[in-house]
Amino acid sequence: MRLRNVPGSRELIAISPDVVHDEKSKKGHWKEFFNEREGKTGSRPLHVEIGMGKGTFLMEMARRNPEVDFIGIEKYSSVLLRALEKHAEEPELKNIVFVRMDAEEIEEVFAPGEIDYIYLNFSDPWPKDRHAKRRLTSDRFLDRYRVMLNGGGGVTFKTDNRDLFEFSVESAVKNGWMVQEISRDLHASPYAEGNVMTEYEKKFSGLGNKICMMKILPSRI
Ligand code: SAM
Repeated sequence: MRLRNVPGSRELIAISPDVVHDEKSKKGHWKEFFNEREGKTGSRPLHVEIGMGKGTFLMEMARRNPEVDFIGIEKYSSVLLRALEKHAEEPELKNIVFVRMDAEEIEEVFAPGEIDYIYLNFSDPWPKDRHAKRRLTSDRFLDRYRVMLNGGGGVTFKTDNRDLFEFSVESAVKNGWMVQEISRDLHASPYAEGNVMTEYEKKFSGLGNKICMMKILPSRI
C-alpha cells in the first residue's frame, strides 16, 4: 500500500483543491469550512476515517450519505495521491476532503466534540509489544477520540487481524468504552447489511479471511 516513491506526489497534492493543507487552522471550524466548500448553510455531521488508504470506503460513504461531511486522513502522499485520482473522476462529490497527516497530531486538528463519527479500517497492526502504543486502538488514541467525539458519536473498527482485534476489544473495554456491536465474522453476521467494504476488506475477504468488526461508544469520564 505504501507506494512510497511516486514521483511528484507531494507537488500534485499541494495543488489539489480537495486536500486541506492548513488543517491545524481548521480546528473548531470544520463545519464552517464545509459550508463554504459546498455553498451550504447549517450544521451537518462530520465523519472522519483515520488511515483511509486509497479512499475507496470513504468515497462510497460520501456518495451514500450526502447529508454528512467526510474527512479522510492518510499519512503517506503516495497513497493519498491514489485517492485524489479517484476523486478527480467525481469532482461533484464535495462532501469529502483529504488531509495528509500522521494521526499522532489529531488533537491539533479537531476541537473537543467536533467529530460525530470515526472509522478505523484495517489499521496498521504494529505487532511488536514495544510498538503497541502506536496502534490506533491503543489507550492513547482512545483517550483522544473520547475528547474529539461529540455526545452521540462512536468509533467503528474493522480488521482481519485477529490479534489486533482482540487487543482492540480489550483496550476499549479497559478504557471504559461500551461495545455496541461486535462480530468476528462480519460478512456472515446481521451487521453485514449496509456494510461498505474497504479496499483491504475486499482483498482479505477474497482470500478467505474473516473480517472482525466492533462499534464502540465512549463513556464520559
Ligand atoms: N483503510 C484502508 C482500507 O481498509 O483499505 C487502508 C488500510 S492500510 C492497511 C492502513 C493505512 O493507514 C495506510 O494507508 C497507512 O499509510 C495509514 N496509516 C497508518 N498509520 C497512520 C497514521 N498514524 N496516521 C495516518 N495514516 C496512517
